[in-house]
Amino acid sequence: MSVLVYVENADGKFKKSTYEVVSYAKSVAVLLNTELIAISIGDVGKDELTSLGKFGAAKVLNVNNDKLKSFVIQAYASVITNAANKENSDILILANSFSGKGLAPRIAVKLQAGLADSAVDLPKIENNSFTVKKTAFSGKAFAMVEFNSAKKVIALNPNSYQVNESPVEATIEDFNPEINNSDLRIEVTNVVRATDKIALPDAELVVSAGRGLKGPENWNIIEELADVLGAATACSKPVSDAGWRPHEEHVGQTGIAVSPNLYIAVGISGAIQHLAGVSSSKTIVVINKDPEAPFFKVADYGIVGDAFEVVPKLTEAIKAYKS
Ligand code: FAD
Repeated sequence: MSVLVYVENADGKFKKSTYEVVSYAKSVAVLLNTELIAISIGDVGKDELTSLGKFGAAKVLNVNNDKLKSFVIQAYASVITNAANKENSDILILANSFSGKGLAPRIAVKLQAGLADSAVDLPKIENNSFTVKKTAFSGKAFAMVEFNSAKKVIALNPNSYQVNESPVEATIEDFNPEINNSDLRIEVTNVVRATDKIALPDAELVVSAGRGLKGPENWNIIEELADVLGAATACSKPVSDAGWRPHEEHVGQTGIAVSPNLYIAVGISGAIQHLAGVSSSKTIVVINKDPEAPFFKVADYGIVGDAFEVVPKLTEAIKAYKS
């Protein structure tokens, strides 16, 4: 028995969320007194693969196949399933990212495994029971799911587990399972990046704004604050519906769910549908001119004031602090 972790890369480099998921998987392997094996798909350099040892992966399966150059979900799911069978892994762990959300159920079906997606904590393992805490109802509640299956798939929410070093010597093993044509029914012919900015689901810091900003021409104050913090930008639904900001920035029940370490909400009222996507943020700062705005009820820090006065001052203060 072993624990297998799927490690995603972006242009050959691992992201922070990858190290989070490896650290989490290592902790699960320690709880089960077993070994952690990682599987990487794509063109990733040896140093990058070896770096996974620092977080506890004893072996890294390296799949570098031209047929998998682009993300074809059926083929990736088959390869990861194949690796789990080869390594006799009863537990597969991956990030609850865009690709992880699609892969996890497919792999669970192939392995006939139970699935806990949106996991936020280490499993509780006692007297043959194996229970995982996960978010439910768009982050409005937590659920405890108990597995009844021998095989288990866990998809970990970003920013839910701290990166921990647990160094071991990682051996790299090339793994070249056959890719069936039935798994290659589509081919990605071109990928166009919508933006070079930090991807919202992975962002540790987010500056978000709503209708209180009055119009798209005022977003410079939000972007300047985000720039000085190294944060991603987000917005409420009406803002993206009005075309003030791109739809990729819309957070909430019908948009992206984020759980950054810091979420700064500027001129957003805090409607339940908005909170559904942001309430698992570690620290929430609300800037709103209405002291009765519902967002203040879930805020860790609140500033009652006009965004057009407060935000530039905050940006200047952070600049001064950093210099
Ligand atoms: P408003 O509600 O208009 O609030 C603007 C806020 O800005 C106010 O609190 C005001 O006091 C403040 N303000 C105004 N001027 C200033 C100033 N100068 N300085 C500081 N503060 C100022 N919404 C989402 O965001 N995400 C979703 O996923 C989502 N899904 C939905 C799904 C459904 C089925 C439905 C029915 C609604 C959904 N909504 C969603 C919409 C949601 O109900 C709210 O209407 C929306 O979140 C409000 O956006 P807002 O806070 O930007 O605007």
